[in-house]
Amino acid sequence: MIKENLQEIEERISKACARAGRRREEVQLVAVSKYKPVEMIREAYEEGIRDFGENHPQEIREKYPSLPEDTHWHMIGHLQTNKIKYIIERACMVHSLDSLHLAEELSRAAVKCGRIMPVLIEVNMAKEASKYGIMPEDAENFIRQAALLEGIRIEGLMTIAPYTEQAESNRGYFRDMKKLFVDIQDKNIDNVNMCSLSMGMTGDFEVAIEEGATMVRVGTGIFGARIY
Ligand SMILES: *Cc1c(COP(=O)(O)O)cnc(C)c1O
Repeated sequence: MIKENLQEIEERISKACARAGRRREEVQLVAVSKYKPVEMIREAYEEGIRDFGENHPQEIREKYPSLPEDTHWHMIGHLQTNKIKYIIERACMVHSLDSLHLAEELSRAAVKCGRIMPVLIEVNMAKEASKYGIMPEDAENFIRQAALLEGIRIEGLMTIAPYTEQAESNRGYFRDMKKLFVDIQDKNIDNVNMCSLSMGMTGDFEVAIEEGATMVRVGTGIFGARIY
């Protein structure tokens, strides 16, 4: 099932890239494996997938030893500072930097273990009360402050668009994200390398690609519905 799902998602990514006049290599697929067992992750690995997204630090810690070393674990969910220890040496990137306090604690932990953690700033583009993330109007200021910290490197922006059955209804948010991304790129802030725009999930990744996503995070479309 995973093999067929991956083929279908891959085809849809390619077609969305073609529609937008973009090359397939410009978009990275992150397979969101939260709540899914390592057997299923291995199956995706066998199909060539190396990038997996997880929401909970403990799941990264638990699954990490069961996959080969060239597996990349993306921390995509809200990260509490007391859980940084589970991911600081295991995650390849944190997509969900959403407060200065978290930035400072990540910085401290990264410096301590001698690594630089790539981070994306989570932006609450639709201003949903239920979501984490920096408000778009505060993003530049936030980035200027976080960019001063050692041990982390800001590499772009991430957003979780509203849940919808109608992908088109998120197009405006993705377009605004791309605009914010380019605006911040143009400021050439020291120690900031805006290269990744993480947006689009199973329900809306094609629209996100058309609007400029460089990373899409697809769970259900690859692994099937989650049972919580
Ligand atoms: C669960 C999750 C996804 C994947 O969602 P699907 O709708 O299953 O593709 C992507 N991003 C984040 C941050 C998530 O928590």
